[in-house]
Amino acid sequence: TVDDQRFSDEVYRSDREHVLHSWSVQSRLKPMVVNEARGIYFWDSGGKRYLDLASQLVNSNIGHQHPKVVQAIKDQADKLCYIAPSIATETRSALAKLLSTVTPPRINHFFFTNGGADANENAIKIARLATGRQKIISRYRSYHGSTYGAITLTGDPRRPPVEPGIPGVIKVYDPYCYRCTFGQEYGSCRIECAKHVEETILYENPKTVAAILIESITGSNGVFIPPREYLVMLREICDTYHILLIADEVMSGFGRTGEWFAINAFGVEPDIMTMAKGINSGYVPLGAVGISDAIATAIADQYLYCGLTYSGHPLACAAAIATIEAYQEEELIANARAMGGVTRGSMEDLKRKHPCVGDVRNQGLFGCIELVKDRASREPIVPWNGSGEVMAAVERTLLAEGVFMYLRWNYMFFAPPIIINEAQLNEAFRAIDRALTVADGYLQR
Ligand code: PLP
Repeated sequence: TVDDQRFSDEVYRSDREHVLHSWSVQSRLKPMVVNEARGIYFWDSGGKRYLDLASQLVNSNIGHQHPKVVQAIKDQADKLCYIAPSIATETRSALAKLLSTVTPPRINHFFFTNGGADANENAIKIARLATGRQKIISRYRSYHGSTYGAITLTGDPRRPPVEPGIPGVIKVYDPYCYRCTFGQEYGSCRIECAKHVEETILYENPKTVAAILIESITGSNGVFIPPREYLVMLREICDTYHILLIADEVMSGFGRTGEWFAINAFGVEPDIMTMAKGINSGYVPLGAVGISDAIATAIADQYLYCGLTYSGHPLACAAAIATIEAYQEEELIANARAMGGVTRGSMEDLKRKHPCVGDVRNQGLFGCIELVKDRASREPIVPWNGSGEVMAAVERTLLAEGVFMYLRWNYMFFAPPIIINEAQLNEAFRAIDRALTVADGYLQR
């Protein structure tokens, strides 16, 4: 209607006059206006429907407006909206207990945060406190959040304003098999990517290294599923030198990979695990640092230098309890695994059909299609940390087809809500197929 149009015009106008958006050049922005979302779909102000293949920022695992979660937030709002973190309260206690049943067995104690970045900030504080050591090893192709410490841990090129960042962070290379830094092929390699971590630790002096921080499966740098041996070797290296293993499960956790946490598939347990996003699917901001019994004991008599006004916010905790229960009641983790199988098949079909597809990879509903100029040379279709008309054309095609996907550099990320079914996956893959045909067209130019 005319009134609806006027309303969304006003939303847009106020946005452009007053809102600063993340990771963008403000003067070039033309944000979509959205006021309605349900399940795996959302609608723009013109009434056009989009299938949300990104789960927004890979966080709406349960889909939009899940009735159980919405009701839990309403009920908690009626009971108690806020109480200080120093006080014990029902939802915080219940969530911590529930988390201890779904996280790896040794992770049983939780410090709550507002999101993923501050979970990582607090994780490294706790690692330094528990070990009395300062250095943290993290990887180049990684993302751990945008606050000063978390962006220093991050290797992704989103760091210019914070250089040189916080001291004591050492970077190592990644288990990126399609573009192995060490020139190897998985199958004939000796997991050089893990050996290199040990070598780095030896040069740094193991007694100065508190922790190795990794995304169990790398997310926004390209969904790297490491060889199983890699994580096993990192665990052994950590045990040998008494270094803590911190798994950042902010993006890969809560069913995304067809497991509660990505690391579970590798038979490895971290000492510290950070979480956010899928913990309550983003209905209210929440993150958490989970620590092992051993670390809890190590820091029990020390002062914990961590604090946030909204640590364990009751509304966020109530949303998390309802979300985790919904994952369980609706068997969504198993669904993610099953739909991951369907995804694998469809991705392989796309790779066979489209010369622009260099590599496809997925674990459950965490996937990536990597576009190349040439399959033999593997040259990316747009440069690393770059963009180009071809990716803009891919995005336009997807949006025209009613599919919202997270694209970055030469990567197309695949991360739908884990409630998705096979018919809906097929709908998504038909749109991706058309977008890839557009990308193929650029190869001949
Ligand atoms: N860690 C990982 C692996 C992430 O993907 C993200 C966000 O995308 C973060 C940390 C940061 O989380 P937040 O944006 O909630 O601070």
